[in-house]
Amino acid sequence: MRLVPCIAAVFALVVSSCVSADVIVLKNGNRIVGMNATADGDRVTYQTSAGQLSIPKAIVARIEHDDFSFSSADGAGIAPPVSAPQIEPATGYEAIAQKTIHDGGVDYAYIESLESEARTGAPGATNKVAAACYAAAQFFLAKGDSASAIQQYRQGLEFAPHNFGLLMNLAVLYLRESQFTEALNPLQQAREIAPDSADVYKLMGWAYYGADKTAEAIDAWKQAIKLRPDPDVIEALKKAERDQALESSYREGETAHFDLKYYGGAAPELARGILGALENDYNDLQSQLDYTPPEQIAVILYTGQAFADITRAPSWVGALNDGRIRIPVEGLTSVTPELARELKHELTHSFVGQKTHYRAPTWLQEGMAQWMEGRRSSSDAAYLVDAAGRGALPSLAALDGSWIGFTGDNASVAYAWSLAVIESIIARGGLGDINRLLDAMASAPSPQVAVLQALNMSYDELQQQAVDYLNHAYLNN
Ligand SMILES: [Zn+2]
Repeated sequence: MRLVPCIAAVFALVVSSCVSADVIVLKNGNRIVGMNATADGDRVTYQTSAGQLSIPKAIVARIEHDDFSFSSADGAGIAPPVSAPQIEPATGYEAIAQKTIHDGGVDYAYIESLESEARTGAPGATNKVAAACYAAAQFFLAKGDSASAIQQYRQGLEFAPHNFGLLMNLAVLYLRESQFTEALNPLQQAREIAPDSADVYKLMGWAYYGADKTAEAIDAWKQAIKLRPDPDVIEALKKAERDQALESSYREGETAHFDLKYYGGAAPELARGILGALENDYNDLQSQLDYTPPEQIAVILYTGQAFADITRAPSWVGALNDGRIRIPVEGLTSVTPELARELKHELTHSFVGQKTHYRAPTWLQEGMAQWMEGRRSSSDAAYLVDAAGRGALPSLAALDGSWIGFTGDNASVAYAWSLAVIESIIARGGLGDINRLLDAMASAPSPQVAVLQALNMSYDELQQQAVDYLNHAYLNN
């Protein structure tokens, strides 16, 4: 039984969904970047654009999962182009942190006493303020309150404007919130303090790339590699250079919320039509998801060959979203109903990715994208209920992470099941519940905890709710 009408679309969606970059650190110090690295027997396997590769476990020191994933198998929806470096807090941090955070809260009186001390010009006092504000920011981040964390970093910087750790951590926070232009301010200050820091240039590249300034991103990442070779940055640089190689021949179109690039061969009417459709979709998603992406979203239209060259995606891939929405439009002259659905689907991934700080599990990403494009479970309900009865449906936990290794059939079921789960949440609690869930995903330690916090349900209960919903809504049971 085919649950999704177009098998090519299935694979396209699979590729679009989940990219979780891991770093495999070898005992000789070399680092390999791959996706979904897992230890399996005496081998470590990982995905690359060239397919699955494996190396002997004996030569591996450790696997570092990027800090946007919850665990080895977790995809991160739309992943950032590079991972965030760990920035050490100020010296003497532990003692100050203990005085700043205690009894489940921030001791503002203590922070104020440090600030008063700093105002007298006491030596070392500004560093104490920096450490206390850093500790308070960590406290708020753990609660998922990014706005208060940003406030703490900024307050610390008022007293210690040259504190590298505060500047870098503030920049990382802005980047996670997709506030790319905002992130450039602290990064430029950090560069003045530490002109030889590879981490500063790594993050600058991320900021420029996110702001759709490819040439500046390439310059920054080249500088980062010159200062310290980093496979993570090398990968990002290659991708940016592939983008740039064809950008010179692209024409551009811009609206309030989108920056569209398209190959000269595409019809300008098509580009205008796509921008118009995307603007409508944007307004719709903005009100439904109660979220406004802070920056313009980059969209690139390709001829078939250019799409294959740049994305290095297999030939059966349709559109994809890796932070930029990339759509092959070969042979199209207007926005067909199918293209319209694809645009809404991919734009939903951008909204869900940014709103959850790239932490949405794949079932949530794909369930939401299908729901927003207008797909419903009617034709799949009987199959899903029957499969649930036979214990043949995948658990949601198995759909948290990457779907890249799924067969076409498994992917079809994964899409249909994810949509049913989303439908059941909306049927019970409306988009209010969805938005609570998306907000919880941004900060909870795992997707299961987020579901518990937002919906007061375990994964098992959510799965049962979805089956009950299918029975009631479509099968008169
Ligand atoms: Zn998708």
